[in-house]
Amino acid sequence: MTEKTEPRMTAPVLRPGDPGYDEERTGFQLLDPHHPELIVTAHGEQDVREAVGYARAHGHSVAVQATGHGLTSAAQDAVLISTRAMTEVSIDPVARTARIGAGATWRQVIEASAPHGLAPLSGSFPGVGAVSYTANGGIGLLARRYGFAADHVRAVELVTADGALSRRTEGDELFWAVRGGGGNFGVITAMEIGLMPVRRLYGGVLYLDLERSPDVIEEWLRWTETVPRTVTSALAMLPFPDLDGVPEPLRGKRIAQLQLALLEEPEDAERILAPLRALPGQVLDTLRELPYTESGAVFAEPGQPHAYRSANRLLSAVDPAAARSLAELSSAEQPVMCVTQLRHLGGALAEPVDNAVPHREAKYLLGVLSPVEPGQVELVRALHRDALAPFESAALGPALGFTFDELDQDTVRAGYGARYPRLAELKAAHDPENLFRHNHNIRAR
Ligand SMILES: Cc1cc2nc3c(=O)[nH]c(=O)nc-3n(C[C@H](O)[C@H](O)[C@H](O)COP(=O)(O)OP(=O)(O)OC[C@H]3O[C@@H](n4cnc5c(N)ncnc54)[C@H](O)[C@@H]3O)c2cc1C
Repeated sequence: MTEKTEPRMTAPVLRPGDPGYDEERTGFQLLDPHHPELIVTAHGEQDVREAVGYARAHGHSVAVQATGHGLTSAAQDAVLISTRAMTEVSIDPVARTARIGAGATWRQVIEASAPHGLAPLSGSFPGVGAVSYTANGGIGLLARRYGFAADHVRAVELVTADGALSRRTEGDELFWAVRGGGGNFGVITAMEIGLMPVRRLYGGVLYLDLERSPDVIEEWLRWTETVPRTVTSALAMLPFPDLDGVPEPLRGKRIAQLQLALLEEPEDAERILAPLRALPGQVLDTLRELPYTESGAVFAEPGQPHAYRSANRLLSAVDPAAARSLAELSSAEQPVMCVTQLRHLGGALAEPVDNAVPHREAKYLLGVLSPVEPGQVELVRALHRDALAPFESAALGPALGFTFDELDQDTVRAGYGARYPRLAELKAAHDPENLFRHNHNIRAR
């Protein structure tokens, strides 16, 4: 064995062929997982430092994986740092903060925060990794009330390309960059985040039969213009298969899911929801007051690892006529299943905050996601391109945190928007060799 594949490291490592290698490199996204030269199963910041130092010394790039929800492109030559064992979560109930390890999921942060009457700015699916979600901005269930998760970061502990560990706080240029710049500047070993005084919310899904409710998109769009910041919502459209195990009212139907999270008392929430309740074609309803620990019920997303690709655009406006074309994509006749989703943004998301989160002025986020069988990737990409085409005139750029595919450099630039030049300068200063490139990559100037 050459020196290159025989690292002198104290951190636990796995190589191709080792028992556990395939399990460790495979996360939630099953399409094209990383195939690294070496996996470091990090148990702490020292393991991360050692892995970065080793990668640099041996000419490898560095990939990082927590849960594997956000995998964009498989790393082949890399040292993969798996952080799934770094799940520390500690709460300071007085300061209303949490210190979270690189591998902590939102579920773990939610569970640790709840006994103190607090909640993090988590998103639709509690199994997602909290650190990467936040470093990419983070648009959560309470986004219109509190803004991006990245806006509430107090400190970041970061291993940079030189292998050094440092704590970055307000005033530091890398603190600015990692709040929106994702994993481009190093490996975040821990983050300190603000928690919100939230115990309960009113939320769930209103399911409508699209055949019987053809105006649901326009009606929801109109409704979003009337609601206060305490209301965050999305409209998803998809076909449900005619299979055992699918709830009877949904089986074999094209369904619109109104996914709703309201920081309101039940009576007030129902008053705000009245126009949606009045829509025809309702087949199921899970709306209720629920503790934040059950917040995963609001979007009711599937929890099984699978292979998927997605594309999206942040929009300054939605043309209702174009939006109607989205309903067609949820037809079972499509060559590949498409789930389209419009998220309502605005509110606190539009407040100016001095960090690297771009496109704060976006009013909606339009996404399209498909499960992918082997050999279908190009077909799916073409379908998604066609789906987004009618919206391009109002598009600000993609929301990179929600993009589960490899993007060309122009699209990546559009994703970072006006923040790109400063991010590129910081990349040149702190990672000129682009050690951290297995992400929506910022290129050094
Ligand atoms: C089902 C589902 C629901 C989602 N819901 C939301 C939502 O409601 N709101 C929202 O904003 N986003 C949402 N996302 C997007 C999600 O926040 C991003 O995909 C995020 O990057 C996932 O992080 P992860 O740790 O789970 O995934 P991973 O695949 O483990 O990480 C994603 C990438 O982040 C980088 N990375 C991971 N850990 C580190 C680290 N410690 N230091 C530096 N870089 C690192 C790496 O480049 C890695 O490839 C959702 C995604 C899915 C699949």
